[in-house]
Amino acid sequence: MKKIPSNGLSEAELFSEMEAMKKDDLKWQTGRNFAYVYYPGEEILNVVKKAYQMHFSGNALNPSAFPSLRNMENEVVSMSANLLNGDEEVVGSLTTGGTESILMAVKTAREWGKKNRNLTGLPEVIIPATAHPAFHKAAHYFNVKVVLVEVENDFRVDPQNIKNAITENTVLLVGSAPSYPQGVIDPIEEIGKIALEQNLLFHVDACIGGFILPFLQQLNYNIPAFDFSVKGVTSISADIHKYGYAAKGASVILYKNSTLRKFQFYTYTKWTGGIYASPTMTGTRPGGAIAAAYAALKFIGNDGYLKLAKSCMETTLKIQNEIRQIPELNILSSPDATLFAITSDDFDIYELGDEMGILGWQIDRQQMPASLHFSINPAHEAVADELLQDLHNAVAKAKKISANKVGKNIQLQAIKTMQKVLPKSLFEKLTQLAAKHSEVGGKRSAAMYGMIGEIQGKGDLDEMIKEFLDKMMKE
Ligand SMILES: *Cc1c(COP(=O)(O)O)cnc(C)c1O
Repeated sequence: MKKIPSNGLSEAELFSEMEAMKKDDLKWQTGRNFAYVYYPGEEILNVVKKAYQMHFSGNALNPSAFPSLRNMENEVVSMSANLLNGDEEVVGSLTTGGTESILMAVKTAREWGKKNRNLTGLPEVIIPATAHPAFHKAAHYFNVKVVLVEVENDFRVDPQNIKNAITENTVLLVGSAPSYPQGVIDPIEEIGKIALEQNLLFHVDACIGGFILPFLQQLNYNIPAFDFSVKGVTSISADIHKYGYAAKGASVILYKNSTLRKFQFYTYTKWTGGIYASPTMTGTRPGGAIAAAYAALKFIGNDGYLKLAKSCMETTLKIQNEIRQIPELNILSSPDATLFAITSDDFDIYELGDEMGILGWQIDRQQMPASLHFSINPAHEAVADELLQDLHNAVAKAKKISANKVGKNIQLQAIKTMQKVLPKSLFEKLTQLAAKHSEVGGKRSAAMYGMIGEIQGKGDLDEMIKEFLDKMMKE
């Protein structure tokens, strides 16, 4: 076990150790990642950092203790509502991230449903298969039932399928703008019509799109209406810590009116410590994240966001156009903004992910179908040419590897058969394998993803992943 050092380290010792620890972290300053960090450049980053530090110790738990935080929070919510075409009635809360915003939307819908619908069973939330796992997490935490609707070949949900899934227990419909994996916007207008017609709540998950789609619209890119301008939309989540370029720990959840938002609040009035009221999941809330969100919106401004959005979109189109010239690669569907996924009919796309990894690019693997994910941020403008050059070279290598991989298919067949005979011991083995392949520095993971694909949907995969998480958190 690790111990707190009996004598504290010197500042120099501490930071040299911490610097060394960072060596395998994402190289986001040089645009080598396609998720997790959205880098607007040093100038903005430094201003946002300064604001975070200014309110480093502030706590927004009690709004009257730090009026500055309350005012900044209210202004951030109001600016976000305005950006997303909300009217004077639209209200919301600042949360720590997209997941918390979505948890709140689902909890609100549950409470609204209890009051406004004649529920005969668990409240039901209808979500497209491409919607973020945070909705499943919310359902899991809050005892709500997920009704999953498959998406079409273009990865957008067919509104008719949503309509068909509605029951007397439905409380909430969901659409993404855009969905994270393939970057497409669900038909928000049509789902809105259904929500209105059936008197249901409708949440638009604009976690990733909320702070870029409005600017792409201003730049006259072809972005369908997705926000409060659409009739029937009752709540929207939008992450300021993604394309808003705030510090991590900032998202907004917006509601059509304050009657709706009240279903989100929690109060406990009998505590010996006094009357307790809390708008969101968290108790103590970091002042720094609120101040940083405020600083980002105010410092970048509409003009700054337009520039950043233009850079992201132009880079996205450039990369996509070049990828379309590579016959072995396909872009999934017709992405609406700055997120997309690529796949291949000719070779194992995970091998391409591994090859790009060796060249220093960190690209996330996706499944159903196997694909690689790209979220483009402003750091990519400077490295797009290098990325494309490396992509060409990596495709050539990945093709060779795939040709030599007949053996791997036989291996996978064997695993499939073994699994039927010896499920328990097999999964133990797979756990060990998964752990081994995920070691920091272990660059080849295609085989592991292949195996996960093979045992997908067989229940035990969940156990295996939990064991893996458990191991990771012990290190
Ligand atoms: C990122 C994201 C979320 C979850 O947000 P976190 O900040 O990671 O909790 C939800 N939905 C979409 C579409 C996202 O891109």
